Amino acid sequence: MKKVTDYFGVNVFNDRKMQEMLPKPTYKALRKTIENGEALDITIANAVAHAMKDWAIENGCTHYTHWFQPMTGVTAEKHDSFISPKGDGIIMEFSGKELIKGEPDASSFPSGGIRATFEARGYTTWDPTSPAFIRDKTLYIPTAFCSYTGDVLDKKTPLLRSMEKLSTEAVKVLHLLGKTDVTRVTTTVGPEQEYFLIDKKMYDQRPDLIYTGRTLFGAMAPKGQELDDHYFGSIKSRVSAYMHDLDEELWKLGVFAKTKHNEVAPSQHELAPVFTTSNIATDHNELCMEVMKKTAERHGLVCLLHEKPFAGVNGSGKHNNWSISTDKGENLLDPSKCPEDNLQFQLFLAAVVKAVDEYQDLLRVTVASAGNDHRLGANEAPPAIISMYLGDDLGALVESIIEGKDYKSHKAARMETGVDALPDFKKDNSDRNRTSPFAFTGNKFEFRALGSSLNIACPNYMLNTMVAEELKGFYDVLKDSADLTADLKALVRKVLTEHQRIIFNGDNYSDEWVEEAERRGLCNYKSLPEAMEHYIDKKNVELFTSNGIVTEAEMHARYEIELEQYAKLLNIEALTMLDMAKKNITPAVMAFTKEISESVAVKKSISAGVSTYAEEKLLNSLSEKLEAFVKKTAELESALAGAGEYSDNLELAKYYRNTVFALMNELREIGDSMETETSAQYWPYPSYGEILFGV
Ligand code: ADP
Ligand code: MG
Repeated sequence: MKKVTDYFGVNVFNDRKMQEMLPKPTYKALRKTIENGEALDITIANAVAHAMKDWAIENGCTHYTHWFQPMTGVTAEKHDSFISPKGDGIIMEFSGKELIKGEPDASSFPSGGIRATFEARGYTTWDPTSPAFIRDKTLYIPTAFCSYTGDVLDKKTPLLRSMEKLSTEAVKVLHLLGKTDVTRVTTTVGPEQEYFLIDKKMYDQRPDLIYTGRTLFGAMAPKGQELDDHYFGSIKSRVSAYMHDLDEELWKLGVFAKTKHNEVAPSQHELAPVFTTSNIATDHNELCMEVMKKTAERHGLVCLLHEKPFAGVNGSGKHNNWSISTDKGENLLDPSKCPEDNLQFQLFLAAVVKAVDEYQDLLRVTVASAGNDHRLGANEAPPAIISMYLGDDLGALVESIIEGKDYKSHKAARMETGVDALPDFKKDNSDRNRTSPFAFTGNKFEFRALGSSLNIACPNYMLNTMVAEELKGFYDVLKDSADLTADLKALVRKVLTEHQRIIFNGDNYSDEWVEEAERRGLCNYKSLPEAMEHYIDKKNVELFTSNGIVTEAEMHARYEIELEQYAKLLNIEALTMLDMAKKNITPAVMAFTKEISESVAVKKSISAGVSTYAEEKLLNSLSEKLEAFVKKTAELESALAGAGEYSDNLELAKYYRNTVFALMNELREIGDSMETETSAQYWPYPSYGEILFGV
């Protein structure tokens, strides 16, 4: 029996291995780069490259690849072998230069028009803060990706910059408060990942799942999630075998896979890792999603990461648990025992409250995607309105600060189970509010509006930057203060008073909240095109440019890419629907109605008086629906042709949302209704029942 402690991280060139394999001075220099962001010398890079190569070859590698996160939303890699000709044979080589810099052709990655196609050159640069690892006999080196002219073309670079920025601003504030021993602050993230697992045999029969990751037709099964019997339910053995395999793969890659359980919808599950720095958490989450898919193949399963694979049952999201800690190990969002006396905590809390209020539109933008549009606003995920939940305790503290009243924290109550054999335990001091998009959960914030397939770099670089911006403002107010305590208290009170509209502890799913939020002036952008427009609002451009995270040109590029991607995705979905409708669904219903007609004729020929009531009723109903279906198919087809008239990406995205998507829903509704009346022998696709309850 292998022990986890023996194989955890075997496929990672981690700190322990570096320490073992590198000369001491090299190791020390590298640590300085990793910990303090100091520039890396080429001689150090050469030594690290050499050690990495030896380790990789010892472990069976033949190739290496720079691994990066372009704007496509998935990771990219280009493999090179270590071989180099020598005499009439070869040697295995890998230099510091090759470790530091790669040159993938950038012309095929989305750039949002930032680069003319003749300037195809792109560079990947080694990110020493995220360890290299081995997969499929290849050494993977996490890298950032930019164009020849230095424009950022990926998701990692802004994240790394935002982490630096937040550190700088937080350290300034902490020094002002007397914590002069703190030299660095890091943001930490623990992303909970939801996914569906279905049988590969079912998947292979559904072109919609194959091309778009979600079902475009499909009537509800008689049973859905209404009994709540799947959530935390006992895990079926086939799924359990998959989860064991997945954990093992992830542990070998040094991913701290920790919690796994069944989710709300049938066939839906979740995996949560132990948190780590935002950068590594991002790389690990990308890795995790890839390994989830690969592992499923070995089990005859398919892992679906789409936000809404099945209409009518819950979709999948990702909870971004986020906090800030110092290099001395202090969590700056920990309220401690007496938050009422903890001015430092109050200041950081105020920074987050102000950031979330002022940049609520950005938080909405960052979770917008074609897939997530199906969740946000429906009664399952947080709504499209961004607000914050602080819980009873912290909520009361904030209220007392605003009103200038005394506050006594509730000491953590004990939970009495009432059964002697069961131990009593300390209750958490805040209950959960599952409906809030941005909830305080004890010593961190949980941003819950992310879609399951999202690269978490984006929400995190935005979150880090906006909080850094607020801390910078706070520092400026306080830096020359003669009475720091009084001024700090006044500042916290002012900020919380001005931004209390963003705090909402009630039910975010209710209609009353939508009205209340409107009264409070909070934004409610229901879809990607609506939200994306605001990404390039002046205040948002200023936020990112003044903090040196991305340039205005890069923001415009990102904006164009997102809108274009959205239109393309909806176009693929519509084309897939048309294909399914014309080639399979219409012919299937025709064949079935033909059989019914023949049955009527045969019956009548035997005896004129025999009842053909059932046949004729069904025949009428299906014939009417089929007529509507065929007409709607033609409407959708001509609507798609109409998309050619739009050259502006925002207009195009809106057209897809308002016209194409609306028609798709109408077509689906008729199709699903025909499915409920058509013999299973004729229906061309596996049903929801077969897919969702088939594993
Ligand atoms: P729940 O399902 O109740 O939301 P889980 O226990 O599944 O909670 O997940 C909580 C996540 O929060 C875990 O990934 C955990 O590592 C992470 N987490 C805990 N503390 C921090 C922190 N200080 N910073 C970031 N993430 C954290
Ligand atoms: Mg959670």
